[in-house]
Amino acid sequence: MSKFGKPCYYCGKLSTGKEHIPPQMLFKEIVCDKITVPSCDHHNMDKSGIDQSIIAGFSLSLQSLKKDPKFKNVTDKVPQNAFNSGNFKTKDCVKKSVYLKPIISPFTGAKLPLPDMSYLESVPDLKDWLIKITAGLVRDGLRRFEPNIDWNSAITVNPSVTNLNGIKGLEETQRNVDRANEIKSKKPWYRGWPSGKRDYPKNVFQFCLHFTNNKTFFYYTFYSVFHFYVEITLNTSIQKELFERKPTVIGVYP
Ligand SMILES: [Zn+2]
Repeated sequence: MSKFGKPCYYCGKLSTGKEHIPPQMLFKEIVCDKITVPSCDHHNMDKSGIDQSIIAGFSLSLQSLKKDPKFKNVTDKVPQNAFNSGNFKTKDCVKKSVYLKPIISPFTGAKLPLPDMSYLESVPDLKDWLIKITAGLVRDGLRRFEPNIDWNSAITVNPSVTNLNGIKGLEETQRNVDRANEIKSKKPWYRGWPSGKRDYPKNVFQFCLHFTNNKTFFYYTFYSVFHFYVEITLNTSIQKELFERKPTVIGVYP
């Protein structure tokens, strides 16, 4: 069915195309089914170069991880194509919006599997990117646009690379890690519905869900390395509808 003329997954205005959730660039050279949702031009992150910028940032971070033999067990799980997305040659707007900055990881000794690593400074707002992915999954989960969700109130937690928009100090980092651990210990977690018969490979992307009284938590893992949470208020009837997609219970987060 045509994706044109349906409500945009994010704003509800007439769509002009489709957006891949998560970005198709993650799955370069990988055969799998992909989730797409109707999108207006303004909320199409692929067209705007935001996807390229953030995924190039992942890739550059992975390249720096790979140099450290301590993290061989982490980087061995990551598909080869993931290391190449940083060599972006296409859009100038992407080159302008990503650059690396050295960082000393505040996580040394914090039981997180990340080393001192290069750090992505990215003009695109990572929080906004994660919230749009969440909106896309909710659109796909409900199979319709739901106008009564306040995406501006969504909260994102990024325990793996503290804060992509600037270093705000260790205190904030510790709060972020504590909050992430608190969310992670919630149960049960449900594995999100598959993208199709050929689901997304788990070493590239997976998402899990946890429901409480009208709060819904999305837990994302990109390339087995980057973990993010999004917390959003969804009323119980929307939660029920998402449940009809039959997410599988997995108990504690894997
Ligand atoms: Zn829109």
